[in-house]
Amino acid sequence: MQYQKLCEVYEELEKNPSRLKKTEILAEFLKSIKNEKHHEIVYLLQGRVWPDYEEKEFGISTQLTIKALARATGKQEEEIVKKWKKLGDIGEVAAEISKTKSQHTLFSTKLTTYKVLENLQALPGLVGKGTIDKKIGLIAELLSCSSHIEAKYITRTLMNDLRVGVGSGTLRDAIVWACFDKEDKEAFQKVQSAYDKVTDFALVFNKAIKGKHELDKIELSPGQPLKVMLAPKAESIKDAFERAGNEKGEIAIEYKYDGFRMLINKDEKGEIKIFTRRLDEVTKQFPDVVKYIREHIKADTFIIDSEAVGYNKKTKRYTSFQHISQRIKRKYDIAKLAEELPIEINVFDILYYNGKSMIQEPFEKRTALIHKIIKNNKFHIQTAHQLITSDEKKAEEFYKQALKDGQEGIMIKKLESPYQPGTRVGNWLKFKPVANELDLVIVGAEYGTGKRAGWLSSFDVACSDEDGKFLDIGKVSTGVKEKSEEGTSYEELTQILKPLITSETGKKVKIKPKIVITVDFQEIQGSPSYNSGFALRFPRFTALRTDRSVHDIATIDEVKKLHNKEVLKRTY
Ligand code: AMP
Repeated sequence: MQYQKLCEVYEELEKNPSRLKKTEILAEFLKSIKNEKHHEIVYLLQGRVWPDYEEKEFGISTQLTIKALARATGKQEEEIVKKWKKLGDIGEVAAEISKTKSQHTLFSTKLTTYKVLENLQALPGLVGKGTIDKKIGLIAELLSCSSHIEAKYITRTLMNDLRVGVGSGTLRDAIVWACFDKEDKEAFQKVQSAYDKVTDFALVFNKAIKGKHELDKIELSPGQPLKVMLAPKAESIKDAFERAGNEKGEIAIEYKYDGFRMLINKDEKGEIKIFTRRLDEVTKQFPDVVKYIREHIKADTFIIDSEAVGYNKKTKRYTSFQHISQRIKRKYDIAKLAEELPIEINVFDILYYNGKSMIQEPFEKRTALIHKIIKNNKFHIQTAHQLITSDEKKAEEFYKQALKDGQEGIMIKKLESPYQPGTRVGNWLKFKPVANELDLVIVGAEYGTGKRAGWLSSFDVACSDEDGKFLDIGKVSTGVKEKSEEGTSYEELTQILKPLITSETGKKVKIKPKIVITVDFQEIQGSPSYNSGFALRFPRFTALRTDRSVHDIATIDEVKKLHNKEVLKRTY
């Protein structure tokens, strides 16, 4: 397919802010590509060139893109930088200078989606001597034969910033509209559930074209990342019983461990792979966990769901997520760090066992299975502390004990419920002491002055709406440390955020939304200054959530609920 045709779709999407209209445009386009041999074009619609579970990055900075533009168009780098400073969007810059390309590029062949995918997919594989030059070469090859709108979207794709407003919800709906009836509720559910198992919209589209029975055939496979099941909040323990109790009024209650999620897989070859909640593979960072798994789980193949929680070696007290978070990203001295910051795996679910998916089985049965196959060994690996009861008082005591043991609260689970990857539907609930705390994503920042000169020192944070659009809610500066010995420092955050800068105006920068932080605050106020309609009062940075992605941040609904609660509290 001609890339130009896809770019026309991007333009349409960009022009139409309404989600319904976007779904219509996408559905029409998907219908038109049903007979294409490859459905990887679907990734391009998302501004990607791989499935969502794939962690690969292009590794292309704005500077490198500018060099590629210069090579492709014959323009001076300085001239391009000047335009970038003026326009702020490197995509617009690419479009503008491509309109006036030098003569030698006029006789170019038409760019295909296949060629764009081929060149962009090749970028991360380039390593060793001359890598930068080769990368520039691959990009320049595309840019030198592209029209101005093609140049705009190639550049934006490279910057992971397509700006056409296609979230995963819209794409899912468009696949249903293109392959089934718009009113077919079952089709929505089947498409979503297939996506949650494989996190690959091209594959889901491919199956959806062939019918629901093909979607049903999509199964879990150990070794492949998948979206974990999540839990909305319970208002109280009583509320949890009402929402999750079975006929006998029973629920399962577990400690809500304050660590990070680990989905642990063993495939047919016996290989162990560990994924975080944001689908990053972290097996190499956790040789201790691999060892515990090999020694304490009796099964040929499995996918288990668990929480890794840190503890103090000397006092044997559990520690918070913050304390062990550096283990997720560490690339060197791994064994030493594992010694210093030991973790215990608390297993609370099993999704796949000895060649069979378990997700349709009731929770009670899955729990019984993990108890059967896991040999508990405190401070290494164990099944999550659990109570099955219909007695509210006992539940209350269990909750208090969880807090005394240094954990966050409790999880409440419906005994008969299936495991639903990627959903937050209420078969699980979480309950913890009321905290004014939200996970938010950094979307912008400002350079500091004085002793913070050269560092980003104030951070614009955002929540999201249901389609993944980011909505500003405040600026955070306090809580970040001056020195790295004291915790996450301005310097560290600056280093992490700098490669994600998409535009700069004076001291202010816009940042590609990727880095999730926990922010606590005194209250939420209605505010016209931010496009969420709300502002955090006295926000304070408390943790860098390296285990979470933008899909995990607070939604505008959560913000509204917290705000309403505060208003209520003040009224009574
Ligand atoms: P939250 O991060 O507040 O949305 O709470 C959900 C998280 O709690 C999950 O993603 C897990 O990482 C964590 N968690 C801790 N203990 C459990 C448990 N027993 N069952 C399920 N999730 C748990």
